[in-house]
Amino acid sequence: MSQQGYVAAPPLSQAQPGIGGYPASFGVPPSQPHYAHYGGTPQSAASPPPAVYKTPASSGSSLPPPPGPGPFVSNGVHNGVGTRGFPPPTSAASGSTYPSSPYPGLAPSPASTQQLANQMGAMQIGGYGHGPLHGPQSPTSSVPQPTSQVLPPTSGRPLMPQAPQMAPPPSASGQPFMPQSPQMAPPPIGASSAMGTTAAAAAMGVPGSFSGLPHPPGGSGFQQPPGLAGPQGFQPQQVGPYTGQMGAQPGFPGAFPAGAAQMAGPPQKKLDPDSIPSTTQVIEDDQTKRGGQVYATNLRGQVPPLVTTDFVVQDQGNASPRFIRCTTYCFPCTADLAKQCQVPLAAVIKPFAAVPKNETPLYTVDHGEAGPIRCNRCKAYMCPFMHFIDGGRRYQCGFCSCVNEVPAFYFQHLDHMGRRVDAYQRPELSLGSYEFVATLEYCKNKKPPNPPAFIFMIDVSYPNIKSGLVRLLCAELKSLLERLPREEGAGSSAVRVGFVTYNKILHFYNVKSTLAQPQMMVVSDVAEMFVPLLDGFLVNFQESRSVINNLLEQIPDMFTDTGESETVFAPVVQAGMEALKAADSSGKLFIFHSSIPTAEAPGKLKNRDDRKLINTEKEKTLFQPAKGVYEDLSKECVSNGCCVDLFLFPGQYIDVATMGSVAMHTGGSVYKYSNFQAQVDGDNFLRDIRKEVEKPVGFDATMRVRTSTGFRATDFFGAIYMSNTTDVEMAAVDCHKAVTVEFKHDDKLSDDAGALVQCALLYTSVGGQRRLRIHNLSLSCSSQLADLYKSCETDALVNFFAKSAYRAMVNQPLKAVREVLVHQTAHMLACYRKNCASPSAVSQLILPDAMKVLPVYMNSLMKSAALVGSADLSTDDRALQRLLVTGMGVEETQALFYPRLIPLHNLDVGSKAVPLAVRCSEERLSEGGVFLLENGLQMFLWLGQACPPEFIQSIFNVPSFAHLGADVMTSIPELDNTLSKKLRSVIDHINQQRSHAMKLVVVKQKDRSEAPFRQHLVEDKGLHGGASYMDFLCYVHREIRQLLT
Ligand SMILES: [Zn+2]
Repeated sequence: MSQQGYVAAPPLSQAQPGIGGYPASFGVPPSQPHYAHYGGTPQSAASPPPAVYKTPASSGSSLPPPPGPGPFVSNGVHNGVGTRGFPPPTSAASGSTYPSSPYPGLAPSPASTQQLANQMGAMQIGGYGHGPLHGPQSPTSSVPQPTSQVLPPTSGRPLMPQAPQMAPPPSASGQPFMPQSPQMAPPPIGASSAMGTTAAAAAMGVPGSFSGLPHPPGGSGFQQPPGLAGPQGFQPQQVGPYTGQMGAQPGFPGAFPAGAAQMAGPPQKKLDPDSIPSTTQVIEDDQTKRGGQVYATNLRGQVPPLVTTDFVVQDQGNASPRFIRCTTYCFPCTADLAKQCQVPLAAVIKPFAAVPKNETPLYTVDHGEAGPIRCNRCKAYMCPFMHFIDGGRRYQCGFCSCVNEVPAFYFQHLDHMGRRVDAYQRPELSLGSYEFVATLEYCKNKKPPNPPAFIFMIDVSYPNIKSGLVRLLCAELKSLLERLPREEGAGSSAVRVGFVTYNKILHFYNVKSTLAQPQMMVVSDVAEMFVPLLDGFLVNFQESRSVINNLLEQIPDMFTDTGESETVFAPVVQAGMEALKAADSSGKLFIFHSSIPTAEAPGKLKNRDDRKLINTEKEKTLFQPAKGVYEDLSKECVSNGCCVDLFLFPGQYIDVATMGSVAMHTGGSVYKYSNFQAQVDGDNFLRDIRKEVEKPVGFDATMRVRTSTGFRATDFFGAIYMSNTTDVEMAAVDCHKAVTVEFKHDDKLSDDAGALVQCALLYTSVGGQRRLRIHNLSLSCSSQLADLYKSCETDALVNFFAKSAYRAMVNQPLKAVREVLVHQTAHMLACYRKNCASPSAVSQLILPDAMKVLPVYMNSLMKSAALVGSADLSTDDRALQRLLVTGMGVEETQALFYPRLIPLHNLDVGSKAVPLAVRCSEERLSEGGVFLLENGLQMFLWLGQACPPEFIQSIFNVPSFAHLGADVMTSIPELDNTLSKKLRSVIDHINQQRSHAMKLVVVKQKDRSEAPFRQHLVEDKGLHGGASYMDFLCYVHREIRQLLT
C-alpha cells in the first residue's frame, strides 16, 4: 500500500525494503536499499561501518606530546573569553555515572499518564437519544495505575494542570457510554464534521469504572490490562492502521478539502476546550518546574527541559540539548518493541547551534600531528564512552567494543575507580561536546584549506531596480562587509568577497585593491559559464575597501534605466561555484533574485503553478523540483563546498520548489519577500541579510553519526546532500540548521550498555581552519515500553514527523501523507494504552504524559500550508514552507506548529518579560483585546474591534480603532510613550530569538486581512480544511478504540 510510505516505524510485518516508498526527493536514492526495516536481517551488524574520514597514516603512537600550551585551548569562537578555564569537575567525587547505572535518567517523575477524563459531560449527543454524558473525571482520580520495578512510583499529583476548570463528575459510578457500532462509522466525506464530532465525542465516552478516587498504588509489578493479550499482545500487523483499515476509514482525512462546509454545520454545544491537554500549559509547567535551573548532562537517558524553557546547560559528559534532542531518551531493547509501539527513534542534531553567553563555549583539543584519537575499528573519536583498561595502556571502544592501544603520548594512569587521572583535564574524556583540530589527513588533497569566500550576486533586472532592492542592498553592503565573520581573536575577517550583477547576462567585477576604479567584465554566453577573471575577483575587503565601496555606489545607477526584465538563474549559481572552485575555496553565494528564470539558458523554467492539480494525485508534482540541471548543479556545489543562500523578491510565481532546492541541498537558506518594496519590507530584508552574513557557520562540512552496537542511523532529513548512505554532506552548516536522524535496530540493545550516539562534523571554520566538532549522547534502553513513553519528547517527535511527511509529499498524494500521520498518532497512543496504562474503560482516552499534546501538533502539521491542499494558498509559499521545515531544529518546528498567541491588552510595562501565551484558538480572542501571534516565520498584531482607545492612541497615534486606515499596516510607529516602547521591545525580543526576521502585519478584527492570521489559530478548524483540535482528538480516540478491539 502506498500509504505506508515514510512513516518512521512502518508496518513492520511487511518486509519491504527501505523505509518504504518515499525516497528522498533528491540526493539519496541510492541509499534506499540499505535502510533496514524492523525485523530485517541485520545488515553488516558485525562489521564496522566504513570510516568517513581518512585515518591518519600514522596513529601517532610514537609521537611526542603535542607542542603548545597544553592539550586543549579554549575555543574563543563563541565568547572570546580566552582565559576561561576548563570547568571544574563538579561531580568529581562521585564520578560520572553513566557507565554504571542502568537507569540513571529515570528520576522519579510525576505522573506518567494523563487520563483525559471526559469533558463531554454536558454535551448532548445528537441523534443518539442520550442525555448528558457522565461528567469529567475528578482530576485527583487521574492517577496512573501501572507500576513496576522500573517505573517510579506515581504521585498523587493531579495530572491535568487545567483540571480545576473542569466540572466535577455528576456521576462517578455510571456505566460507560458505549455507542453502538453504526454510530462509530465515520461521517461521509465532505459531510459536516459536526457529525463527526458528535460521534467521536460519544466515542470518547465516559470514565466508566473510574471511581473518582486515586487508585491505590500498585505494588505488584506491571500489570497488563485485563483482557488483553500477553506482553506482546498488541500486534500492529493485525490491527494496525496500515493493513486495510485505512482505506475503509475515509472519515477524518476526507474532511480536509471540505473546509468551508465544515464550518457551516449546525452549532454544537461547546465543549470545554480547557479540559483537553494544553500546549501552553505544558510549556508553562515546564518553565515553572525547570526554568532558570542548571541542566547538567551527566546522566544517561535524561530528558532535558522543553525547548521553550529557559535553562542553563552544563556539559558533564553528554551533548547539550541545544545540539541534540531525541524523540525518546530511552530506546526499546529490541526491534520487536520498536515495531510494536511505532514511536520513531530519532535525534535532531543541530551541530552548530549557538551557545548562549552564560554557557561554556566548546573547547578545542589539539593533538598536533597525531590528530584526534580514534577507535581502529569503528573510527569513533575519543570520548567519555571509551573505557580505559590494562592500567591505562589500552581502551575499549564504547561503540564497537574493540580494544585499542593507547598512543604513547596519550598514556595516563588510572585511579582506583579505573578512571584516567586526567579525565577532567581533557574535554574529550569528560565532555559531551568539543572540537579537535583536524590534521592534513582531513583536508582536501591533504592541503590546508583556504579561508572561505562570500560572493554577492545581484539580479539587476527591472523588478529589483524598481522595487528599490538594488539600491537598498548596495547601501547596506558597505557597512555589512565591515562585519564579516571572523575567527575569534583574529583582527579582521579572513573571508574574501566577490561581486556579480546579472539579468540575462552576467557581469563580473574586478575589485583588486590596486585599481582606482572597479572593472566590469561581461559574460553573455550563459550556456557555458566561465569566470572571466581570477585575479581581482575574490578579494580581502579591508584591502579593497575603497574600490568595493566605489562599485557599490555605482551599481544602482548603472542599471537604473534598465528595461531588461528577463533573468537567468542556473548560470548564476554555476558562475559562483566555478569562481570558488577556481580559488580553491569553499564559501557562500548570496543571490538576490526577482523572477522565474525564463531567459534562454540552462535551467530555464516555466510557470507550472497549476492549481487544478490541488487535491489530485498529481498535486505532489507542484513540489517536485525540476530535474536535470538543478540536480547536477546542487551536487557539484556540494562537492565544491559552495553553499547557496537565496533571497527571492518575486512579484508572482517563481518556482520556489526548484530554485529553493539548490539552497536546501547546499545547506543554504531561502528567504522570500513577495512584492517587495524597499520602504515597506526593507527593514525585514536587512535584518535577514545581516543575520545571514554574521551568523556562526562552518563550510565544506561532512557529518557522520556513529552508534553503539545494536542500532544505527538509517535515514537523514535536513538541508543536506548525501552521495552515499552514511556521509551527510553540507556545503555549509549554520547555527540554525538541524539534521534529523532516524535510527533502527539491527540487533538487541542492553539496558546495561545503553545506546550511544556520536556525531562528528568535519568542517572548515570562517578562518580557514579544518576542525572536527564532536557531540556525544548516551541514551537509556529498556525492555519496558512504559520507559520509552515516559522519556519521549513531543517537540522532537513533531520535528521528525514534519520532516518525514514533507519529504513524503513529493512522492505521495497529500491525502495519503495526512492519513499516515493520523494513523501513526493513533497507533502510538493505542500501544501506550494497551501496554502501559492502568486498566480502565476503553471509552477513556488515555495519553502518556510526555505525549499528551502530540495530537494538537500532529493536527496542526496536517493543516499546515504545505500539507493542506488548498487553491487559496500560494504554491510557492507551500513549497517554501516545505523546504524551510526540512532544515529546522526542534525550536523552530515547535513554534511553527504551535504559534505563540500573546495577549497584549494587559501589558505590564514595568516587566521585562514577554507575557505568557494563551491557547491558539479564536476562543481566546476578545473584542476588547489585542494579541500578538508569531510562529517564527510570520507575526501578526491582532486588534479587537473594541480594544481600548488609549491603547490605539499609545501605539498608533490615532484616537480609536475606527480611525485606523484601510491599508494593511506592516509596522508600528516609534512613539515616545511607555506602552509603545514596551510593545516594540517585545516584538524585537521575539524577532531576535528567531532565525527569520518576521514582518509584522497589523490585523483588524473582521477585516479581510484577518484570514492569514486565523489560519494560524491551530486549535480551531482549518481555514483551508482540517479539523479542530477537539474534533481531531475525538477522531484519534475512535481510532485508538478500534485498534484496541
Ligand atoms: Zn569502535
